[in-house]
Amino acid sequence: MIKIIKEKCISCIACISACPHDCIRVDGLFVSFKDNGFCNNCDEKYCKVLCPTGAIILD
Ligand code: SF4
Ligand code: SF4
Repeated sequence: MIKIIKEKCISCIACISACPHDCIRVDGLFVSFKDNGFCNNCDEKYCKVLCPTGAIILD
């Protein structure tokens, strides 16, 4: 499962820059996964590692 907790997101867009597969987009004031939650599930999990607030959950 992959999810962005909106309450924790500060819209810094670090995750958008970090994702090598272009899976995340700006969605109003927040960010979301493109195409109904598409994520290539990269081994590095750059989005989660670089999110400064822990807003991205990857199980
Ligand atoms: S886990 Fe990897 S592929 Fe999926 S959104 Fe994060 S950085 Fe992109
Ligand atoms: S890196 Fe974290 S805080 Fe920044 S936009 Fe992405 S989910 Fe939000």
